[in-house]
Amino acid sequence: MSERRKQDQAELRRRLSPLQFHVTQEKGTERAFTGKYAAHAEVGTYTCVCCGTDLFESKKKFDAGCGWPSFWLPLAGDRIHQHRDTSHGMVRTEVTCAACDAHLGHVFDDGPEPTGLRYCINSASLGFRPKAG
Ligand SMILES: [Zn+2]
Repeated sequence: MSERRKQDQAELRRRLSPLQFHVTQEKGTERAFTGKYAAHAEVGTYTCVCCGTDLFESKKKFDAGCGWPSFWLPLAGDRIHQHRDTSHGMVRTEVTCAACDAHLGHVFDDGPEPTGLRYCINSASLGFRPKAG
């Protein structure tokens, strides 16, 4: 790990809750239906809890019944990176913040139209900015 990355992680460890740190930096997963945004329906923008980048918008959030905030499209494709994840004996596609590499969750291909995608994201990876006005 580089010096820069060590410094960033030390700063995040101070600023984030233990769960937020575990999920974003150690690729953890919060327990289903426990995250604060799982059933959150306010209008606004979801941001990366680590670096503040805008990642998802409430318009593209849907209730997948899975217990995690689910979106059928990110705010912009270049805000997130996707990686093949073969951990836990499964082949999944991991989603990370393109700006800071924070782990966000996974994307599955069982979402609603028009994309057919389901971005299954941990609440612990997200911040929220209500729409002004
Ligand atoms: Zn980030």
